[in-house]
Amino acid sequence: MSGWLAIAGLGPGDAALITPEVSAALAEATDVLGYAPYVARVAAREGLSLHASDNREELDRARHALRLAAAGRKAVIVSSGDPGVFAMAAAVFEVLEEQPEWAALEVRVLPGITAMLAAAAKAGAPLGHDFCAINLSDNLKPWPVIEKRLRLAAQADFAMAFYNPRSKARPEGFGRALDVLRAECEPERLVIFARAVSTKEERIVTVTLAEALPEMADMRTIVLVGNSQTRKAGRFVYTPRSAP
Ligand code: SAH
Repeated sequence: MSGWLAIAGLGPGDAALITPEVSAALAEATDVLGYAPYVARVAAREGLSLHASDNREELDRARHALRLAAAGRKAVIVSSGDPGVFAMAAAVFEVLEEQPEWAALEVRVLPGITAMLAAAAKAGAPLGHDFCAINLSDNLKPWPVIEKRLRLAAQADFAMAFYNPRSKARPEGFGRALDVLRAECEPERLVIFARAVSTKEERIVTVTLAEALPEMADMRTIVLVGNSQTRKAGRFVYTPRSAP
């Protein structure tokens, strides 16, 4: 039996947003690995082993999955959203780079709908022109790097999506990010707080930069910031497809 590893995205929450390709991989899998809340989204069945682990154990999880595949198992590592966006796919390639004995294994990355696209679709089309995505967590990079990228993106008039905006362990960063935006952008700039998109707890709130408060975001929120042209059309927010 030849094993394989798939690194799959489960989308933002709603089962209807899981791709058929990911569902097919899960149906064939012998092992599913991932952060516990993501593994909990996979239905248990006979012949399927579920391996839930802590969020901080990404490289160990990647090694575990590659060992399983090398032993002939069909392993799926699950991420929320897309596995290549601030998630497990890069961790697997980091391990593969270190351990060339696994280079011949069948490894596939199966895309999913990432939070910023699910949130943008609910709001209208705030990412309709050039945009960038920034992870506001300073777990894996120093804060000055985040602040520099944020400032330059605002100066270049990108719309922006902020992942991991604010956690209990990092209550300060998002307030500082808002201060950078206030220094670079006009107070009327539209900011969308999209929480738990596509789940029962979904809440989408649009405010101006002047009204935005750090407490409006938590770890289940993605924050979308418009560019200078982003505007409302009735209850929708959109960014025109051309620069002024
Ligand atoms: N791989 C994931 C992102 C992981 S980082 C993806 O592609 O979506 C985790 C961050 O993603 C959260 O802190 C939050 O900012 C965002 N996020 C994930 N799911 C979300 C959802 N359903 N609604 C809003 N934000 C979400």
